[in-house]
Amino acid sequence: MSAAMTENHRMDVISEYLARTAGSADYHEQACRYLPGGETRSITHYEPYPVVLAEGHGALLLDVDGNEYVDVLNNYTSLVHGHAFGPVIEAVQAALPTGTAFPAPHLRQLSHARTLTERYPAVERVRFTNSGTEAAMLALRIARAATGRRRVVMFSGGYHGSVPDLIDGGPDTILAPYNDAELTAAAIDSSVAAVFAEPFLGSGGVIPAAPEFLRVVQERVRAVGGLFVLDEVQSLRNAPHGVHPSIGLEPDLVLMGKIIGGGFPVGAVGGRVSLMDLTSAARPGGLSCSGTFNGNVITMAAGSAALTALDESAISTLNARAQVLADQIESAASQAGIPGSVTRAGSILQVHLLDTRPSTFEAAQVVPAGWISALHLALLLEGVYPAPRGMLNLSTALDDALLARVADGYARAFRRIRDLVSGGALLGSGASGDETR
Ligand code: PMP
Repeated sequence: MSAAMTENHRMDVISEYLARTAGSADYHEQACRYLPGGETRSITHYEPYPVVLAEGHGALLLDVDGNEYVDVLNNYTSLVHGHAFGPVIEAVQAALPTGTAFPAPHLRQLSHARTLTERYPAVERVRFTNSGTEAAMLALRIARAATGRRRVVMFSGGYHGSVPDLIDGGPDTILAPYNDAELTAAAIDSSVAAVFAEPFLGSGGVIPAAPEFLRVVQERVRAVGGLFVLDEVQSLRNAPHGVHPSIGLEPDLVLMGKIIGGGFPVGAVGGRVSLMDLTSAARPGGLSCSGTFNGNVITMAAGSAALTALDESAISTLNARAQVLADQIESAASQAGIPGSVTRAGSILQVHLLDTRPSTFEAAQVVPAGWISALHLALLLEGVYPAPRGMLNLSTALDDALLARVADGYARAFRRIRDLVSGGALLGSGASGDETR
């Protein structure tokens, strides 16, 4: 194939995208007059402008131009049952006529808190927040109050929301290399209030923890009198009782979010009674953590309905289907003759344009950003809606036929990428430095 032909292919991808998304382009132009960069969430941005979504039904999305996509992003893993899930709609419709927010405790908070404590072993008490970010902020305050220390250890490529100490770094933040037990243990000393860890690096490329790694980290931070905080905001969807009991962890605090809100804004911190009681308003000098919408009653109703439907069998079906899809995507890449591998944690996958599956954050970063964004646009053209960075995840709304459409979409998109790469059209695009969440 000649270079001229491949350049035409590249133009095809962009011009096809522009031609199909005139309504999104128009929206973007207008939105830039009112919202910085036309958006209100960094993660939803990509070039030349993002598709503007209008509706979601089960596993299908419709954009403002009427294009249909199979949703394999599910609002970044939170919509584990897809869009407009029947039991969630019913629960919310039943709750709406009796009020949406109260300056008082409510029965639905009690009910959802009981569900979470019964379901997740490390969660003895719960505090609700409005996002995973707020949950991480509160957990950090609890850790600092409990230990009288300020420093926090987290991992390169780790993500715990837009929490200043945990996203921008700073004098009290220590970055350790995920999956390197020796260097991590060396970074944890008696000045450390807490280690914040995910069961797998989510935003950092869906990199599973090496066996024993997190247990070693937990043991080390306990030995120096600090807390082990496990961020299960993404991973709760992967195991019926959370990932922590399945890999032998007993975190002091657990961060929760996403699926526990059934598609509505949510976050929560759970943990041991003695630590969580530091937030009790009944306690003199308790940590103050008010939030106008903490424990919102509509969120509680939606979250309960979503969790009830996510039982052991639903989770094992999701995880098994994710493995099948991972295999299909890897073999599609190999058939197209391009490097491609898939890492997986439960029903969350990441496609890497690499020959071998990376086992560290750093190893996942070497692919030029241009290749990753070209694959993303190619997938949108094939009617598949993953994260721009290459992450995808399953919902219970995806049936076999839709999953076959996803696998087929990847096969076609890989062939487009093969044509771009072999002609050199994407070379020199620079390393991937995209903000990833
Ligand atoms: N922790 C993890 C592991 C996450 O993936 C996220 C969000 N992607 C957060 C925390 C922050 O949650 P939120 O976006 O609800 O603030």
